[in-house]
Amino acid sequence: MIGLIFGPPGSGKGTQASRIQHELGMAHLSTGEILRSEVAHASPVGKEAARIMAAGDLVPDDLIDRIVGSRLRRTEPGTSVLLDGFPRTIEQAKALDAMLAKLGRNVDFVVALDVPESLLVDRLLHRAAVEGRADDTREAIMERMHEYRARTAPVLDHYRHTGVPVAEVNGVGDLDEVFDRVREALKRALGQPRYKGRAGGI
Ligand code: ADP
Repeated sequence: MIGLIFGPPGSGKGTQASRIQHELGMAHLSTGEILRSEVAHASPVGKEAARIMAAGDLVPDDLIDRIVGSRLRRTEPGTSVLLDGFPRTIEQAKALDAMLAKLGRNVDFVVALDVPESLLVDRLLHRAAVEGRADDTREAIMERMHEYRARTAPVLDHYRHTGVPVAEVNGVGDLDEVFDRVREALKRALGQPRYKGRAGGI
């Protein structure tokens, strides 16, 4: 199974992704985490990405496509994968569809977290004080929101139009509450026989 998780910056996407991954026994592939590790190691990719990320902009599609492509090709054919932070543009979505087609696979579901922007900015500024992520400055946060609205939100329509189940979930509330909604939405989207969750599945 291949799943995608979408959500604006600060929506709790990473946390919900790790819970879905655990619940459905999926491998988790986060492009944000991969890029942050490349930056921390000052690799050639990291050096190219660092300034772009700190400004809240998106790194070039071809670089991201290469990173994801090489990892997907390395996974065993039967492995379920949850992609977090990719695809973020229509071009990336088309590249992903082509990569998966070559592997004889396809996107099985999309989870999209919905959180009002005013709440997100507060959450991210709070996280900035706690974690000190390089892209949690007010300016970079506003740019990430803009990129999400302008370039990432349309990717959801791409999947709706191709008939992939898109589970939209209200992301306001505590982590457990949001995860309960995610689980219910996934059960509806996938149908009971395909939803083999650890808790509450069949
Ligand atoms: P968030 O969703 O909180 O902004 P992520 O960890 O998903 O955080 O991504 C952090 C940054 O990494 C993005 O702002 C962007 O610069 C870069 N990035 C991650 N994934 C992609 C992608 N698929 N395409 C382009 N840039 C990406």
